[in-house]
Amino acid sequence: MLVVMKIDATETNIKAVVDAAEKRGYVARPIPGGDRVSVGILHNNGSVDTSMFLGFADVKEVIAVTKPYKLVSREVKKENTLVRVGDNIFGDGSLPVIAGPCAIESMEQAIETAKAVKEAGAGLFRGGAFKPRTSPYSFQGLGEEGLKILAKVREETGLPVVTEIMDCENCEMVEEYTDVLQIGTRNMQNYSLLKRAGKSNKPVLLKRGMSATLQEWLMAAEYIMEEGNLNVILCERGIRTFVKHSRNTLDLSVVRAVKKESHLPVIVDPSHAAGVRDQVIPLALAATCVGADGLMIEVHYKPEEARSDGAQSLYPEQFKECISKVKTIHSLI
Ligand code: PEP
Ligand code: MN
Repeated sequence: MLVVMKIDATETNIKAVVDAAEKRGYVARPIPGGDRVSVGILHNNGSVDTSMFLGFADVKEVIAVTKPYKLVSREVKKENTLVRVGDNIFGDGSLPVIAGPCAIESMEQAIETAKAVKEAGAGLFRGGAFKPRTSPYSFQGLGEEGLKILAKVREETGLPVVTEIMDCENCEMVEEYTDVLQIGTRNMQNYSLLKRAGKSNKPVLLKRGMSATLQEWLMAAEYIMEEGNLNVILCERGIRTFVKHSRNTLDLSVVRAVKKESHLPVIVDPSHAAGVRDQVIPLALAATCVGADGLMIEVHYKPEEARSDGAQSLYPEQFKECISKVKTIHSLI
C-alpha cells in the first residue's frame, strides 16, 4: 500500500504516518518523488485499513499496490528514478557508458584501457576483481589487488568505477574501493547478497539472471530496495536460449517492459549477450534505439591476451567507433 502525501507535507506529518505504520508492525519506507513524498507500507500480509491513514494530516490519498513488487513498481513512483554516479545520470534520457575489461589483470592493462575508453567517451570504468567463473580452473580475478588497481584508475582518469561483489564476506572491502556495486547474473537470486547490497550506500547495478523472468528480476531489485538502498540500476545482459550463434540472446524488448513496470533505470550489456566481438556494436546500437538508460561494454587494450572474455572484448579503436555511432543514433531518437 502507498500513502501519498500532499506536496507541501511537513517532515513531522510524514514521520507521523511512518510511526503509525511501524506501531502496527508494518515496515514504512518514505519514497521521495518529483514533487511529493509517498510512504510505502510493506510487510502487510493482507490488506491494510486504508481509512486509518486517510485521517492523518497532509495525506493526499492512499493507493493499494496490486503488483507483487512494491518499491520498484511504477504504481508506487511515477517519475523515473535517477541514479547519479559522478557526472553520470542513469534514467534522465542520457546514455552513460560503462566500459572496461572483463577482469582487472594488471596496472598497465587497467590504466591503458581506462585512458582509451575515457578518450572515446565512456563515463565509467568497469573491471572485475572477483570473477564468477564457470570453471574453478579459470582466472578468478586479482581480489583486493584488483580493487586497488581500480582505485588507481579512478585517481588517474577521474572515472568512477564499477566492480562485482560475489559474496557478503568481501562486500565491505569492495565498498571501500568502488563507486558502484555490480551483482552478476549468477547471483541475481542470492538473497543474502541482495540484502547486504541493500544496506550499502553505493548504487547497485543488478544484472538480470540468465534465466530470470521480468518479475523475478524486479523482485530481486525489491530485496535491495526493501533494505533501504533505492539506487538500483537494472542491466539486461542476455538470457539463455537454444541458439548457438551467440553466447546468450539479448532480450531488447525487456527494456520497454521494465520501463512500463518500474521507475528504475535499465541499461544493456551487449558484450555478455553476444559473446563475440562482431555482434557488439550492432547490439549496442539496437539497445540505444529501444531506449536503454546506458550501456555496459567490455573493452580490452589487447583482447587477444585477455584472461577472460577476450573474444567479446572490443579493441579500443572499435569502441571509439561504437561510441560515435551510438551518439549519432541517440541524438536522432
Ligand atoms: C561481467 O560483467 O563481467 C559478468 C561476469 O557479467 P554477467 O554476470 O552478466 O555474466
Ligand atoms: Mn565478462
